[in-house]
Amino acid sequence: MLTGRDEVGQRSETVRRANLSAIVRELHVRGPLSRSELVARTGLTRSAIRALIGELAAGDLVVEEPAVRSGTPGRPSPVVRLLAEDVVVLALEIAVDSLAVAIVGAGGVVHERRRVDRPRGHSTVEAVVADLAELARTVRGRRPPDEVPVRIGIAVAAIVSRTGGLVRFAPNLGWVDVPLGERLGEALGLGVPIDVANESDLGALAEFRRGAARGADDVLYTHAEVGVGGGIIVDGRPLDGVGGYGGEIGHMPINPAGRACRCGSIGCWETEVGEGALLARAGYPLDGGRAALDAVIADAAAGRPAAIAALEETGFWLGLGLAGLVNILNPRRVVLGGLFARIHPFVGDIVERGLDRFALVAPRQLVSVVPSTLGVDAPLVGAAELAFEPLLADPAAWLARRGALVGLASA
Ligand SMILES: [Zn+2]
Repeated sequence: MLTGRDEVGQRSETVRRANLSAIVRELHVRGPLSRSELVARTGLTRSAIRALIGELAAGDLVVEEPAVRSGTPGRPSPVVRLLAEDVVVLALEIAVDSLAVAIVGAGGVVHERRRVDRPRGHSTVEAVVADLAELARTVRGRRPPDEVPVRIGIAVAAIVSRTGGLVRFAPNLGWVDVPLGERLGEALGLGVPIDVANESDLGALAEFRRGAARGADDVLYTHAEVGVGGGIIVDGRPLDGVGGYGGEIGHMPINPAGRACRCGSIGCWETEVGEGALLARAGYPLDGGRAALDAVIADAAAGRPAAIAALEETGFWLGLGLAGLVNILNPRRVVLGGLFARIHPFVGDIVERGLDRFALVAPRQLVSVVPSTLGVDAPLVGAAELAFEPLLADPAAWLARRGALVGLASA
């Protein structure tokens, strides 16, 4: 049983942890801030901010630097920033036709990044894990030799279980129930926790924190490569569903007279707006891949009618599907990623007209549709954000672990 004093102590400890989290989150998302700005943004008192910053600085998570005088009266407030060089995560991505690795510092500073193309089609888990581990070694080789990432995040074009890093189904790779987190953990041998998530969910997180959806709390991100994926942010939080499988908007039934889908159903949205649909309309084989896609875009840019017509029809189905999603979700911003961002210059007006015609007036008036600003790297940036999340949620626990490690090292 807790005594009154224990209860008060426990409450104040909970408050301290929440306040540390609020400060670190602000610095991570917004970049360096003065003490006065932190007071304004967190609602904490000046003295509370001073004490908490002191604690974070003692744990080598932040540093305070003298402010540059801005010409306004009064004493300049020191600027606080996260130590992006000392606190890093490893971000990995398994996309349809490439693998990517980045080392990202606190605050989202990308220290190193490398993407390599690989042929499409089914690959064994062993081959992909070995290639990705090799790429990670190359990228880490450009960093200080004693640098160890605090955590690892992986984006993969697959349906991923929320817990345990289990890939349930990756149609492009031909994987079913693969313990990807475990396998990569063994291959990387770094002994730090690994989080795995769907690439579109992570693209949404990245655009929300650092890209085209900054400042919007309700966001729909949709990303097309071979398949079509979606990530949804509601009131600033990802919408995952019960098992983490939510947001699979590519398999929203939209055309009962349409083509068979890879998922086993007929006329899913991705059979009308995915890469194969566009290629088929432009007269290329469905599986023509990147070269055929480049040809369609180049033809459209040169004004060739067949390519323009193929893009316009794709744009129609894109607008129709988005209208339904806007009615359901009432997002502030829709961010188009991957192939959708590439074709946006050709289909943007058609998508807008589709929303005017098919969506309800009230949610339609509140939404804007924009291309991704992070481009092909959105899921990779999101993988880094995923890996930072436990540190942002509870920096006190991180400080305690770091303190114990430093204590061990100096003992
Ligand atoms: Zn489907």
